[in-house]
Amino acid sequence: NKRIKIKHLIENTYTGETVTVMGWVRTRRSNKHVTFIALNDGSSIQNYQIVADPEKINEELLKKANTGACLKITGTVVASQGSGQQSEIQADRIEILGEADPDKYPIQPKKHSLEFLRENAHLRVRTNTFGAIFRIRHHLAFAVHQYFHQKGFCYLHSPIITASDAEGAGETFQVTTLDLKNPPRDENNAINFKEDFFERATNLTVSGQLEGELAALALSEIYTFGPTFRAENSNTTRHLAEFWMIEPEMAFYDAEDNQNLAEDFLQYIIGFALENCQEDLAFLDQRAAEEEKNKKAEQRSELGLLERLEFVTKNTFVRISYTEALDILRNSKPNKKKKFTYPIDEWGTDLQSEHERYLVEKHFKKPVIITDYPKAIKSFYMKQNEDGKTVAAMDILFPGIGEIIGGSQREERLDKLTERMQELGISQEEMWWYLDTRRFGTAPHAGFGLGFERLVQFVTGMSNIRDVIPFPRTPGNAEF
Ligand code: ATP
Ligand code: MG
Ligand code: MG
Ligand code: MG
Repeated sequence: NKRIKIKHLIENTYTGETVTVMGWVRTRRSNKHVTFIALNDGSSIQNYQIVADPEKINEELLKKANTGACLKITGTVVASQGSGQQSEIQADRIEILGEADPDKYPIQPKKHSLEFLRENAHLRVRTNTFGAIFRIRHHLAFAVHQYFHQKGFCYLHSPIITASDAEGAGETFQVTTLDLKNPPRDENNAINFKEDFFERATNLTVSGQLEGELAALALSEIYTFGPTFRAENSNTTRHLAEFWMIEPEMAFYDAEDNQNLAEDFLQYIIGFALENCQEDLAFLDQRAAEEEKNKKAEQRSELGLLERLEFVTKNTFVRISYTEALDILRNSKPNKKKKFTYPIDEWGTDLQSEHERYLVEKHFKKPVIITDYPKAIKSFYMKQNEDGKTVAAMDILFPGIGEIIGGSQREERLDKLTERMQELGISQEEMWWYLDTRRFGTAPHAGFGLGFERLVQFVTGMSNIRDVIPFPRTPGNAEF
């Protein structure tokens, strides 16, 4: 008998047929006459009911079918007597593929805290919550590729090991083959990276953008989607040391084309999840609602999870400049104390997530794109505006999250770019390869970066980013 996935058993009619299923026991209930096993194989959030008659199935064997054990079951599909599901399997044969000692198996059928599950990240995917999250994560990744493929973008694999730090996008992880306990030294007693495998100092990439720009100035429209690494020592709920980034880069796009693409992209991706992950989202919506109840009134979100997703798909994003945003914030009363924790009076101050969330959740009640930031708080590669003070940057702000996308039109003029690099003390010698694109056949171009886990966080409603990646890498945490 061929194995059938539980999702197919639920969605199709197999009544009367003999089938085989395999999966893990979620719960087992017995009385004198019969044993019920709720089986899950990860294809659906729903468990499938197996009915075992002790006259047919050895009782000693049934005792081993504890929560967490892995089973192979062959039996007949029959219409279900109980409520909750259409059909169930009357087992003819049960095989224990893997036992789970009930005294030692940590994932018992009860509500575990997220902290406990994080400590058991190797097994937490066997819970409903994490099954739902990782299925949604898969769908989002698939939708990203589908979106760009349909638009004719080329998926570009940027390198993981690089010699550039994308100019300070974050703290880097060094990569070396040298024995750092006893490294070779040069004449100045500095570590001699000439003896390293790469004959230079290298690090894990913090962003694929600069390489993406090189490719866009040949393939016109590309996107990267790969792991990035930042050794930021921030124990926040929105930062990981290893996270995945989606970075489209497009020749012949100006700042407005870039904003249009980002808005359309986000609405597509989130719409895709709403359409294709209904069961998992309904489960997480419920979960998020319960979580909200435990929050202090002022921290409670006005929107439920599904409402928040529709907030993105159904609203046209507001577009305002940094200067306009600052005016709004200066004249706002965010709460009873009428003050933000970080004062926001001076032009040039960067927005904090409390300001970003205020604009989205309280002032506009729509997703917001902020454009034309002061050049001092943005990167050297952003196109300088005519006013001499701002650059053609954009940040996209979402409810509950704040910044989800950062992007810009890039500076394509060699003279303006090198002038800015000089001001900031960035070595033109080291960046010769980047500057070559401006020397030879330069073109207007733009792009943006979306942290994939921030997106998954938004769509699943999880408040900690560690709960939306299978194996989170954070300070002190890399065991498994
Ligand atoms: P933040 O202000 O939140 O630290 P950033 O401005 O440093 O973000 P960018 O360099 O603009 O981040 O990176 C682009 C996107 O990558 C961000 O908009 C965000 O979605 C995501 N991102 C940045 N740092 C992290 C991180 N440590 N973990 C997860 N996602 C991140
Ligand atoms: Mg940062
Ligand atoms: Mg930022
Ligand atoms: Mg940013």
